[in-house]
Amino acid sequence: TGRLEGKKAIVTGGSRGIGAAIAKRLAAEGADVAITYAGNEEASKQTVAAIGAAGRTGYAVQADAGDAAEQATAIGAAIDKLGGLDILVHNAGVFAINRVDQDDGSFDRLFAVNVAGVQAGTAAAAPRIADGGRIIIIGSVNAHHSIGPGLAPYGASKAAVAGLARGWARDLAARGILVNVVQPGPIDTDMNPADGAMAVGFQKMIPLGRYGKPDEIAALAAFLASDESSFITGTTIDIDGGLSS
Ligand code: NDP
Repeated sequence: TGRLEGKKAIVTGGSRGIGAAIAKRLAAEGADVAITYAGNEEASKQTVAAIGAAGRTGYAVQADAGDAAEQATAIGAAIDKLGGLDILVHNAGVFAINRVDQDDGSFDRLFAVNVAGVQAGTAAAAPRIADGGRIIIIGSVNAHHSIGPGLAPYGASKAAVAGLARGWARDLAARGILVNVVQPGPIDTDMNPADGAMAVGFQKMIPLGRYGKPDEIAALAAFLASDESSFITGTTIDIDGGLSS
């Protein structure tokens, strides 16, 4: 039996990339998993099928995390489908390069999805998440380590969720709900392909000399979701091949 046997989990943005890897890993460890996705229905079906192949029940709910009302409704609907909630993973996120002297207007969208979506989802889930539950946010090493120009708004959005997590850890401690942030460095996904234009420069900065894999983030998320993380709350954990060392 897995570490998450019988648990009920939500992974936002679970159709592709890191979120899909986390959803599959939580299912492999015994959890039923509901994912949200923005628009890629085909990819969402693949994740749900993989959850089913692991012997667990999967659900997919389409919702734009950047629309607070839609996000709150989706989280509520996912909890209804699961019949409860133990683990909430905020993974849905967007990336943009936005230099201060070349503002492309992406600041508002970054904060809507990466910050306000996390706030709205947690607010909807908090009254219903089981005592002893978990909230895990996928932040970024960019929260504290700006690795190149144009990353100010993205990094600030990820610093913002680290701040939210510290506060929520205190708000929810009395119920035994642990709140933490996983801060990846460059991970090979559609957002940041290891063979993409940004990759050459990023790769040189990583002591381990390679991009991370979604499964490596999923392993940390599964640990934080499990009973083994019982004394960890209100913190951020870098998982970046040494990038920010
Ligand atoms: P991808 O772009 O590969 O996948 C994004 C996933 O999130 C998809 O499932 C997508 O759904 C969903 N999504 C995107 N926007 C929204 C939205 N507005 N509402 C709901 N769902 C949404 O990204 P990654 O897997 O690379 O990134 C996942 C998280 O990890 C993000 O928060 C990102 O900031 C963070 N991160 C990524 C790093 C990297 O190098 N890849 C490094 C550090 C942090 P759909 O399939 O429907 O489009």
